[in-house]
Amino acid sequence: MLLNLLKDDGAALSHADTHRTQRMARCFKLLQFLNRGHDQAGAAHPQRMPQCNCPPLAIDARGIILHPGCTITGVTGDDNAKDVALSDGTTISADTLMVATGRKPMTDGLGLEAVGIETDQSGAIPVDENSMTPVPSIYAIGDVTNRINLTPVAIAEGHVFADTIYGGMARLMDHRNVPSAVFSQPPIGSVGLTEEQARQDGFDPVIYASSFRAMKNTISGREEKTVMKLVVDQSSNKVIGAHMLGPDAPEIMQGLAIAIKAGATKADFDATMLS
Ligand SMILES: Cc1cc2nc3c(=O)[nH]c(=O)nc-3n(C[C@H](O)[C@H](O)[C@H](O)COP(=O)(O)OP(=O)(O)OC[C@H]3O[C@@H](n4cnc5c(N)ncnc54)[C@H](O)[C@@H]3O)c2cc1C
Repeated sequence: MLLNLLKDDGAALSHADTHRTQRMARCFKLLQFLNRGHDQAGAAHPQRMPQCNCPPLAIDARGIILHPGCTITGVTGDDNAKDVALSDGTTISADTLMVATGRKPMTDGLGLEAVGIETDQSGAIPVDENSMTPVPSIYAIGDVTNRINLTPVAIAEGHVFADTIYGGMARLMDHRNVPSAVFSQPPIGSVGLTEEQARQDGFDPVIYASSFRAMKNTISGREEKTVMKLVVDQSSNKVIGAHMLGPDAPEIMQGLAIAIKAGATKADFDATMLS
């Protein structure tokens, strides 16, 4: 959403599936997503989660074969059969190919250039911590700024903007500890820093990781495991990241987000009885 504070500038800126056969069980986009913003615990591969020492069963048990770091380089075939060439030199024969293209800010045609706002390569409108663009009278919030592209974030950014500019209650948007999810099967939920991000941010993180079979999988004999990982700041004992791959992970992480936002320590987590 673009918010134009000028009334008469003339710039025309207004408020602005799947695995059909055994031959096809590939999930490219999920991997790209994991590689981008989620803790590698979710990737469920021993080499990507050494602390957990867990078998690669969480996603693989579903028959999904991941190809980390690969892109599709070519597709040949017809409506009934396709050969999909990958950048690692392998070829997948499949009935169906599904491509998830991702999203980018749709800012073309808004007249931004006319008012001196240059978007970045993705089309995102640059803003500062107050959501102000380089043109001081023009603010931008939500997906067009390509910060954290989620509904509650866009709403919160708008709320902060309104409070600050119109409500006389100046405050800044806090983009930390926003939980996010990949609605894959099994799903992934995440909040706070990944292990890698924690190190980059100067923390000396202690990692608590676990993998286990949920009771329903134990009883039914399914091998699929749930994977969980906590990232804890060694000096303060605060939990600064939580990551989960397994049933209901998104909802569980939404609840944990409150504890992490409130600064709960690993001791607080340990002292909490769960049934
Ligand atoms: C398939 C999908 C699933 C998603 N699932 C989730 C989810 O589970 N949880 C979650 O939190 N988020 C989810 N999102 C993201 C969420 O939808 C966005 O982050 C959120 O809608 C951003 O709000 P926004 O106001 O910035 O943009 P939008 O909601 O896109 O609103 C922008 C509005 O501007 C209008 N517009 C565009 N150009 C012009 C113009 N020139 N003039 C006037 N109006 C214009 C559009 O029509 C639209 O109404 C999902 C998104 C997609 C695509």
